[in-house]
Amino acid sequence: MKYYILFGPPGAGKGTHAGAISEKYNLKHISTGELLRAEIAAGTELGKQAQALIAAGSLVPDEVVEGMIESAFDTIKGYDGFLLDGFPRTLGQARDLDKILGKRGEAVTAVISIMIPDDLIRERIAHRAAIEGRADDASEATITNRINTYHAQTEPLIAYYKEAGKYHEVAGYPGNIEENRARVLKMVEGIQA
Ligand code: AMP
Repeated sequence: MKYYILFGPPGAGKGTHAGAISEKYNLKHISTGELLRAEIAAGTELGKQAQALIAAGSLVPDEVVEGMIESAFDTIKGYDGFLLDGFPRTLGQARDLDKILGKRGEAVTAVISIMIPDDLIRERIAHRAAIEGRADDASEATITNRINTYHAQTEPLIAYYKEAGKYHEVAGYPGNIEENRARVLKMVEGIQA
């Protein structure tokens, strides 16, 4: 099985391009953010615990997302691999993912990193707020916290995966969605080669 990580700051285009990548390579796209929003919408206990943290732009505890990821690995069949979107987001999660995969005799295949600058993060999220109506896209304070959380807790993963020789980066701008998608797919083709 292949285990790709779709990496990048909020608004980089991970969700926008995930469908094209997962279709092309028969991967199951798993977005921990989407799974958490589904838990909130369903009113589950997990959703109730996550809601305030997500609304504030903070991360939910590592165990919560790791549990969701492990259960996806256990239950989802019929694909050539997984495209993990929004996970891992901390060094602890990255190390735990290595352990979770190691137990299965598997390993992270590659990191597909889409990069955009901070000012574009704000612009993209403001645009998405108008279209998708996500609560955590609507407030300036929440967006600022997500950007700060990304730099403090998630950015260190770049060095972690560079060290492992698995890090591949592509610019998520400039251009329209199609141009960006073409650039991302070309980069992923390069990883396959
Ligand atoms: P996303 O849809 O990836 O932007 O995620 C939305 C929110 O869900 C994040 O701001 C976090 O509060 C939470 N979340 C998603 N993935 C993770 C993760 N791997 N670790 C911790 N919190 C997460």
